[in-house]
Amino acid sequence: MTRYADLHTHTYHSDGTRAPREVIDLARAHGITIVAISDHDNLAAFFEIKTYADSVGVLLIPAAELSCAVDGVDVHVLAYAFDAFDERVAARLAAFRETRHTRGYRMVDRLHVLGYDISRDRVDQLAAGGAMGRPHIARALVEKGYVRSVAEAFDLLIGTGKPAFIDKERFRIDDAVSLIHAAGGVLSIAHPAHYPDAETLVPTLLDAGIDAVEVFHPDVNDAARETFTNVARFRNKFLTGGSDDHGTVKAKETLGTVRVPEALIGPILERMASL
Ligand code: AMP
Ligand code: FE
Ligand code: FE
Ligand code: ZN
Repeated sequence: MTRYADLHTHTYHSDGTRAPREVIDLARAHGITIVAISDHDNLAAFFEIKTYADSVGVLLIPAAELSCAVDGVDVHVLAYAFDAFDERVAARLAAFRETRHTRGYRMVDRLHVLGYDISRDRVDQLAAGGAMGRPHIARALVEKGYVRSVAEAFDLLIGTGKPAFIDKERFRIDDAVSLIHAAGGVLSIAHPAHYPDAETLVPTLLDAGIDAVEVFHPDVNDAARETFTNVARFRNKFLTGGSDDHGTVKAKETLGTVRVPEALIGPILERMASL
């Protein structure tokens, strides 16, 4: 029987709202038995739920979503099937979590100046010791009644270029590639439809050493999927996919909407077999 995968999910260890166990249970309810929890800059969910995943027959892939800068564009790259105990990876992710924290506080301060009274403590609680991100700030703004939704917080205040937006530190692409390859893993370009001039960007990233493209994603339409599938195949790269579930933070990106047949993700499964 063919197994199905969701290789892009988030938990409360970054900017999602679900517990790792909820992700595993929900995946199983949708007939998905290969799961990557790809929290931003954080592997905590993997360590928290690996034993449970094993016990219910779910193959849990070590994963993380890395924010990279490519000529000023924020490009997200998904790292998969690397050694979860690699110390260099752990150190880099910890450093990025640290800078996310500082930047989150700076955004709270900026919001104060703009007349929005949310507290550092509340944002800290929402981030729950994991990788702090703008969605935590957005939720604090919703709670205080300043905006009606997380989406509105991004639109009015914290989206790129908006009054309370502060940039965060990001990987250089060659740096992300060498770090993850050295730890035995592979990389995929997340939600390729999100980037300006993606038709040029995606081939450039593949030629820079990225191994795959996430063509199965709620924000990638049929036409874009066909385009990026051809771009990847032409270069002997492979395809990945996932729901990008963040729990209640995002509506459209929901676990169960994307199911990738195992035959497509051979390079990841091969690495898992050798880990
Ligand atoms: P950060 O990594 O702190 O810059 O925050 C970026 C994260 O915010 C992304 O990973 C998404 O999960 C989320 N995000 C970005 N834009 C929106 C939006 N318009 N509505 C809700 N969430 C968003
Ligand atoms: Fe996110
Ligand atoms: Fe992303
Ligand atoms: Zn994501």
